[in-house]
Amino acid sequence: MGRRFFVGGNFKMNGTQTFLKNLIDNLNAGQLDDNVEVVIAPPALYLDQCRKQVRKEIGVAAQNAFNATSGAYTGEISPEQLKDLSIEWVILGHSERREIFKESDDFVASKVAFALKSGLKVIACIGEKLDEREAGKTFEVVTRQLQSIAKVVNDWTNVVIAYEPVWAIGTGKVATPLQAQEVHEFIRKWLKENTSEATAENTRIIYGGSVNASNAAELAKQTDVDGFLVGGASLKPEFVTIVNARI
Ligand code: PGA
Repeated sequence: MGRRFFVGGNFKMNGTQTFLKNLIDNLNAGQLDDNVEVVIAPPALYLDQCRKQVRKEIGVAAQNAFNATSGAYTGEISPEQLKDLSIEWVILGHSERREIFKESDDFVASKVAFALKSGLKVIACIGEKLDEREAGKTFEVVTRQLQSIAKVVNDWTNVVIAYEPVWAIGTGKVATPLQAQEVHEFIRKWLKENTSEATAENTRIIYGGSVNASNAAELAKQTDVDGFLVGGASLKPEFVTIVNARI
């Protein structure tokens, strides 16, 4: 079974009702490659609006979710509540959550476990910072983050791994196709050695960090790049070109 190419649009804390309506109108009108699974991740406030407006074949993800069903957790959103709005996916462990909101590997893992148990599909983000890459620690960091997630995942069917080098996010400094392939290949090998051959073969490993309409096609040609998580460019019409990077 081949891995279905996956393109996610992470809108981060951007957009208004009107802006998102226009963005979705454009997406709904676009000719999208049928072989690609497309998922958009609007701000929590607009999840309901976007789920209702976007065409059904396009998935919708939250950008975060807490590890409890309900209760006294001011400001948080639960997987149950997301499912109540027919939201299928959640992004967890994004580097902005790890850095700005000090989310630890363990906390991310506990949210991954809870989201999966609740029936959500998870885009789990990992990736090294610039100083870590420069110190030759990329594989070490990625391994640590993977290990932490792998401890709580038995069945990887509903997990997409997003490799997002932090130095490439929002900087315009995209990883070269070879840099991306090198780490994706490493991740797949790690999965093979630490989970199973089938998991390694079937799990999508997507790249994120300054993906745009000009660099997507070359990145998409790499054997172990199974798609993208797109930030800035997902807010523009060029997102459609990225979705169609392989045609
Ligand atoms: P970027 O963001 O495409 O704007 O670099 C990617 C991400 O943070 O997922």
